[in-house]
Amino acid sequence: LQNTLGAGVGFLVDENKQIVVHPNPDKVLKTWSHDPTLLPTSTTPQGGAAYDDRFPDATPRLLFVQPAAGTDWLVVIELPFINVLQLAVQISTPLFLILLGVGLLAGLGLLLLTRAITRPIQDLSGAAVQIARGQLEQPITLSGEDEVGQLGSAFEQMRLSLKDRLDDLSLLLRVSEAVSASLDLERGVPPLLAGAMQASLAHVARLVLLSDDGVPEMVLTHESLATLTPLDKALATLAVQSETPILIENVVRARSRALIDPALIGPGVRAIAAVPVRRQTRPLGMMWLGYAEPRSFTQSEVNVLGTLAGQAAVFIENARLFQAAEGGRRRLQAVLNSTSDAVIVTDQTTRVLLCNPATEVAFGLAPGASMGRLISELWPKSAMERLLNADENAATRTEEIMLPDGRTLYGSASAIISGDGQAIGRVAVLRDITYLKELDAMKSEFVATVSHDLRAPLTYMRGYATMLPMVGSLSTKQQDYAEKIMAGIEQMTELIDDLLDLGRIEAGVGMVREDAALADIIRTVVEAQAGQAMAHGLSLKTGYLSERTIQSDPGLMRHAVTNLIDNAIKYTPSGGSILVEVEERDDCMVVVVADTGIGIAPADQARLFERFYRVKRRETIDIKGTGLGLAIVKSIAQWHGGRVWVESQLGSGSTFYFLVPLNA
Ligand code: ADP
Repeated sequence: LQNTLGAGVGFLVDENKQIVVHPNPDKVLKTWSHDPTLLPTSTTPQGGAAYDDRFPDATPRLLFVQPAAGTDWLVVIELPFINVLQLAVQISTPLFLILLGVGLLAGLGLLLLTRAITRPIQDLSGAAVQIARGQLEQPITLSGEDEVGQLGSAFEQMRLSLKDRLDDLSLLLRVSEAVSASLDLERGVPPLLAGAMQASLAHVARLVLLSDDGVPEMVLTHESLATLTPLDKALATLAVQSETPILIENVVRARSRALIDPALIGPGVRAIAAVPVRRQTRPLGMMWLGYAEPRSFTQSEVNVLGTLAGQAAVFIENARLFQAAEGGRRRLQAVLNSTSDAVIVTDQTTRVLLCNPATEVAFGLAPGASMGRLISELWPKSAMERLLNADENAATRTEEIMLPDGRTLYGSASAIISGDGQAIGRVAVLRDITYLKELDAMKSEFVATVSHDLRAPLTYMRGYATMLPMVGSLSTKQQDYAEKIMAGIEQMTELIDDLLDLGRIEAGVGMVREDAALADIIRTVVEAQAGQAMAHGLSLKTGYLSERTIQSDPGLMRHAVTNLIDNAIKYTPSGGSILVEVEERDDCMVVVVADTGIGIAPADQARLFERFYRVKRRETIDIKGTGLGLAIVKSIAQWHGGRVWVESQLGSGSTFYFLVPLNA
């Protein structure tokens, strides 16, 4: 008992609780008991019980009490707890070491196992990242029969097809770049055909172009223009009839022979792809590729060839449109360059869009210098600016333009109206009318001389005609004839006066320039003609009269205003009214004479200011006049650096404007 656990004591207790055997003789025959309230921590099937309690000196101990079989004696073992723990340690240490070893081995195994599983997945995710970044050059090498291996080979296939697609796309991009860089068929088609050869590994590529009526017209190879062969023609006829590409995988097979005569195909071509080039439904041509070996065509190859044919169609159409437009432009250019009339086109902001050489010569401009410049910059405050200014008024405007070299141009400008009715600029044509001007001057000189010479005999005639009744009494008939002669003499005198006035104004003889207010002139004239107006049953009134003075020849001004008011009285039926005004506009004065008379038709308005021009209408037949009144008004306006114009509508009156610049 003493050596059971290498420590502690074991002893026997009899039925009287007296120790009978104990290694310490002092304890023998002593009474032994233990705390009956203590509960056993464990029991044995043989009735033994173990208790945790303490030695009398309070150190913990393990107490084991085992009743001896067949007696009331007890076997008791007292064991210090420390020994129990030591024993436990002794037993558990090797166990712990074994467990540790086993654990380490299991961990290592697990590590290796997981690595074997995760490594391919990592590789796979690396490959996915690589594809996502577009790095498609490196092959994905994941093999094996398991799912990861299968996934790997699916990835590799995906990489290959993506790479093919990308290659096709970049090829198409390169081709379209090369094609769009030019609008010339002979330069744009070869890169396109080279692309088609590269896309399907062909060794011949040709594009047959059709004329407008569908006949093969010319052929281009991937290098240049070539001669049209019977094969080109035969393939073009075949392909144009078909909606889809014609694929001949092996030219010697019977089915191919039925399509195309093998005698036409040269020895080097064993397979052919012919793709129709169409714009919507209109056939423009056909692209065909020849291969050195028989082959089968993949769907993606056919797709790429179809796309290239589409590009070819757009390109051919653009190139043809460009050629047509360019031809038209060249013709127009040649016409404009060779005309002797000056032609100028401006946009709606009055910038010069076109200016032909005749214009540049007339105005002494350097070739091309006027392009894009504003009219107001090129010809500030001039007749040219008035002709081409950006007025919404679409009507044709006319101006006489004096050139520094003494020539006179007659400019006529009208608005350019776009298809939707918008004015998008103006076009002016300027014609040299110098010879007409010279003719006019000669005419004036002739008329002046003749009229002066006519005046003297007329004075005699008037004198003698007035004296006729004085030399003897006249019969009524004679009296009547004498009056008619007088009226004729009056009319001739009036005509000659007008002609002389015109000649004087044009020659600038005896003219003055002094400050005068147009308002005063108008008041005097209106007063003087009030009686005549009243006699015609008309109301003659003045409206707003600007009192501003102006440098002018007052006599001429009076003449001009008189002529205008005179006309208004003559051509307004009784009951009508005449209004005279003078207003200040920008840097000029404008006299306005408005009547409610018979009006003037547009065709007559254009010629009104010509000499001797008289409107021939039923209403004017009985009105006497020379046809020189307005020509004189125009000359007076021009002498003052101004102009005169009319606005009128047949039947509802006319308004004459007489403009004189303030700083003429
Ligand atoms: P005329 O001596 O015939 O009046 P003008 O040169 O003064 O000559 O005028 C030319 C023509 O213009 C006239 O014949 C006339 O038909 C027309 N005309 C001039 N003024 C008016 C007016 N206020 N209203 C209508 N017609 C006019």
